[in-house]
Amino acid sequence: MNYSFWFVVGSQFLYGPEVLETVAARAQEMADELSKTLPFPLVYKVTAKTNKEIADVVKQANYDDSCAGIITWCHTFSPSKMWINGFANLQKPYCHFATQYNQSIPNEEIDMDFMNLNQAAHGDREHGFIAARLRLPRKVIAGYWKDEAVQKRIGSWMKAAAGVAVSKGLKVMRFGDNMREVAVTEGDKVEVQTKLGWQVNTWAVGDLVKVMNEVSEAEIDALMDTYKASYDIDTDKIDHIRYQAREEIAIKRMMDAEGCKAFSNTFQDLYGMEQLPGLASQHLMAQGYGYGGEGDWKVAAMTAIMKAMGEGGNGCSLFMEDYTYNLEPGKEYSLGAHMLEVCPCCAAGKPRIETHHLGIGMNEKDPARLVFEGKEGDAIVVSLIDMGGRLRLICQDIHCVKPILPMPNLPVARVMWQAEPSLTTGVECWITAGGAHHTVLSYDVTAEQMKDWANMLDIEFVHITKDTTVESLEHDLFLSDLAWKLK
Ligand code: MN
Repeated sequence: MNYSFWFVVGSQFLYGPEVLETVAARAQEMADELSKTLPFPLVYKVTAKTNKEIADVVKQANYDDSCAGIITWCHTFSPSKMWINGFANLQKPYCHFATQYNQSIPNEEIDMDFMNLNQAAHGDREHGFIAARLRLPRKVIAGYWKDEAVQKRIGSWMKAAAGVAVSKGLKVMRFGDNMREVAVTEGDKVEVQTKLGWQVNTWAVGDLVKVMNEVSEAEIDALMDTYKASYDIDTDKIDHIRYQAREEIAIKRMMDAEGCKAFSNTFQDLYGMEQLPGLASQHLMAQGYGYGGEGDWKVAAMTAIMKAMGEGGNGCSLFMEDYTYNLEPGKEYSLGAHMLEVCPCCAAGKPRIETHHLGIGMNEKDPARLVFEGKEGDAIVVSLIDMGGRLRLICQDIHCVKPILPMPNLPVARVMWQAEPSLTTGVECWITAGGAHHTVLSYDVTAEQMKDWANMLDIEFVHITKDTTVESLEHDLFLSDLAWKLK
């Protein structure tokens, strides 16, 4: 979907037609200029002067699937009671851009006409009040519209809003249930569909096996060429790789037929399959599909959404699992991996295709998988959990490092990181908040974007930062629990 955002500029009739013409011309100019640097087009829609104009543009925005949000600004004063009926019906993400056409106050030119035309400082306060009064979820961004840092913030918010649009249309394909007895991968599918829009449904593994059997050798040859071009093959068990290609083609075919952008499976339900999809899942994730292991459909959906929110609509966000720690003083790191399925988007070098025995699950043959080291860089890990009655999104700031050990016998891709505020306090905070062992790790989606995304969808957001203490977090969680029970 090619999303766009709508620019709605507030004014009123009081100033006469000339001022309104100037406002409209400038709004058009600003939208055109901003569209050159923003990740999505900003389309100037209307200089709103009446209740009806605002109600109409909101109705159009609500029903236009390509509109991913509205951005408002008040060039002049715009009495806000006329915004109430429109805002009361708004179903799209909303950003209030408190900006100004001119950067400086002109010493000679400034008179009362100038003041009436250029009174965003005045108009944006009236505009802000009504959104506060209506308790509208919104993002307020203030600054000069030509300022690069300001444009970057708007672009970042746009991507979060696009993540909302992706979420509202997301379909998740489940093969098998979640792993027996596991709690954190459970969740209320009716609640997530109501709040986040996800359609989470199941398909039989037997149906997937049927589709796998229909995949032709020529199709497998073509995908093998792609594998060879993208990865180094470090095994002589070529038939095992071809089997993964067969799995990938079949899973993709089923997802595309249903319009699904994420899937989950479980090693406990592979009936009729020779290998747990490893390379297959990894290469599907590289193409932007979300995935969750052990039937974790929540992390599968979040992976798809966060990939879509990232660079170019398929950024560096990946399904991850906390595995083990290095607890030596001064070298305190988490090691993350999965039994097979780590997306190669984060690879520091060219991934290798290897085959190894996998004792977990009913694998008749050693599954082929991509093995690599994750790259360095600042990142976040994100976990969506079901608190019973509400969803909580937990986000922690981390710093990925080159793994401090080569670990030559570890047969899977690996990522190593330092968590904020420190490994042990970070773990205490994460466990206190109830965060899962499965996460989405992202190098290009920010904590601020995830907070915006959670606000737009009206779910709880918890952020563990360099400044978080266990005591402050416990306090916040206690108050948050009360607040969400009242909501
Ligand atoms: Mn797992």
